Amino acid sequence: MEIIKDVKQLRSYLAGKTRIGCVPTMGNIHAGHLSLVKLALRKSDTVVTTIFVNRLQFNQNSDFDRYPRTLNNDLKLLKEVGNNVVFCPDEREMYPESQKYFIDPPKIAKKLEGRFRPDHFRGVCTIVLKLFNMVSPDVAVFGKKDYQQLAIIKGLVRQFSMPIEIISGETIRERTGLALSSRNVHLSSQEKIEAPRLQGSMRLIYDAIKSGDRNFVAMEYAAGESLARHGWIVDYVVIRTQDGLLRPSNKDKKFVILGAASLGKTRLIDDLEVESP
Ligand code: AMP
Repeated sequence: MEIIKDVKQLRSYLAGKTRIGCVPTMGNIHAGHLSLVKLALRKSDTVVTTIFVNRLQFNQNSDFDRYPRTLNNDLKLLKEVGNNVVFCPDEREMYPESQKYFIDPPKIAKKLEGRFRPDHFRGVCTIVLKLFNMVSPDVAVFGKKDYQQLAIIKGLVRQFSMPIEIISGETIRERTGLALSSRNVHLSSQEKIEAPRLQGSMRLIYDAIKSGDRNFVAMEYAAGESLARHGWIVDYVVIRTQDGLLRPSNKDKKFVILGAASLGKTRLIDDLEVESP
């Protein structure tokens, strides 16, 4: 496995390679990331996993500072699954001068995560554009775990005519239902026991929709209430259309339940797709 830290070296290594796949990550690699790498390996000839904790997409320095950085273990895990290249630039390589040009994402980026993390998606879109310009991938894989991000990246690639196929990977979970996330390391042992309730509350909505319930606002309210009763600070639990993340109308059938809530200092997000009968 090649480990590359500078862009020039990356470009020369990739020159002439056919069908390049890219998996952008912020490191602290877990089985969720590895499932995306495996998917990329099936869809391309050379897989470049990028590891870069992108300051631009964090709203609070404290969150950026305490983001887990575990490069040596990440490299070991990536090598084990057959990943070909790790691109892990430092901040100076990625931002040799302070970034003054940004992608200004549309309305879809201002709601949900965008409401609670202003400019988050501006930072995400800007770094993804930079990474795509460095890697020039034919395909790139993103997780449904970050559902809104996935939708925004698809729009970015489409509207800027980038010749990149965006593939989505399913969310990998612990047996309890808790979605794997680098932020789970910050949960105390008590919080870890409570954490699966976020997905659990979505499962209840899932079952209700499957059985024909269309009282979406009531379901959202009940889920938020139940989480709050168990000590969560709830940012949102909502039901939106899979396409465009809009409020459902009468004729919609394909939904995604999206939620974000904090336990103590740790903010978790999760989602669940569901189709009504
Ligand atoms: P991150 O390192 O958290 O920025 O995530 C990098 C990529 O991994 C993103 O496309 C995420 O959506 C995806 N990802 C994060 N957690 C999971 C998970 N539990 N299952 C599958 N993909 C995930």
